[in-house]
Amino acid sequence: MTQRLPRHLYVHVPFCARRCSYCDFSIAVRRDVPVDEFVEAVEVELDLRFPYGSPERWTLDTLYLGGGTPSRLGARGIASLMDAVRHRLRLADDAEVTIEANPDDVSASAVRAWREAGINRLSLGAQSFDPRALAWMHRAHTSDQISMAVDAVRAAGIENISIDLIFALPPALGRDWSDDLSRAIALNPSHVSLYGLTVHERTPLARWRDRGDVTEAPEETYATEFLLAHEVLSAAGFDHYEVSSYARAGARSRHNAAYWSGESWVGVGPAAHEFDGSRRRWNVGPYAQWVRLLRARRDPIEGEEVLSFENRAAERVYLGLRTSSGLMATPSERSSARRWVESGWARLEGETLRLTPEGWLRLDALAAALT
Ligand code: SF4
Repeated sequence: MTQRLPRHLYVHVPFCARRCSYCDFSIAVRRDVPVDEFVEAVEVELDLRFPYGSPERWTLDTLYLGGGTPSRLGARGIASLMDAVRHRLRLADDAEVTIEANPDDVSASAVRAWREAGINRLSLGAQSFDPRALAWMHRAHTSDQISMAVDAVRAAGIENISIDLIFALPPALGRDWSDDLSRAIALNPSHVSLYGLTVHERTPLARWRDRGDVTEAPEETYATEFLLAHEVLSAAGFDHYEVSSYARAGARSRHNAAYWSGESWVGVGPAAHEFDGSRRRWNVGPYAQWVRLLRARRDPIEGEEVLSFENRAAERVYLGLRTSSGLMATPSERSSARRWVESGWARLEGETLRLTPEGWLRLDALAAALT
């Protein structure tokens, strides 16, 4: 018996040069990245969990190398990872193949090798162009390295470039958000992703806050900067198509769109999550444990849950409201949302309920109110 294999694959590459001050992701800080060990473990995980996979049977529409910092695998590591993947499945002719990269890892030779290996979209972790903000965030790159990276990526023939920026930094840093937006736009990316700074426990930032060394940005700053980004990026021709995402025509992230539309996907690597249409599963987080389990030919699963009817209903609402496609709302949902329309938080067009940027600022509360 064969199983229907998802058309989307996420590979979590956990390595980072150091931990950024705000980051609580599952990462492995390594100066020397164990490329061969990692790629071999990915191969074992794919073979163990998808024994029916083969290039004839398994075709992908999107492949996303996320992290962590996949660019830390370098030219050879990405080529070897892509070989391992291709040995087991086929990338559709128009597949979107994304790598997340930090600017300090992007050299002309590395990005040429990534392009040759099949990468056609690069998501660059810029976060800010302000040297003081970059140092405060413990980022390993300089602001000059961001533009040099974009030039190198383009020179290698990758035009689909996304830039990540963080907003709502503590006001004491004096970061000029408007200037950062302008500098990102000047690089002419096809996509921009924005993240509002959140203080996660057990991060350097949480310790600074607890000691009183840092005061978080107030909610008004979060709202002002979110709305400014909407205004500036929309004026520059970007479509605000998801609460955190902006794209030029034809450059929406197809991989993320699969998550948002409830499609199934496979996730491999430490801490990788996966969804098969009704069940979520996630892998153990620590890199060493993930490798150990795979060496012993054991599934690195840490947990799973089958979505209940209520979970699915809540997810339908949340996923619908987070994108500009909106939610096909039931009569009772449309009736509940009338007040939001009057408040300027939503628009109702026929049966479709769409949040405005003002509404996206309240996404969690509005989704919860409907469910
Ligand atoms: S580079 Fe990304 S994943 Fe790594 S520590 Fe920084 S924010 Fe976290």
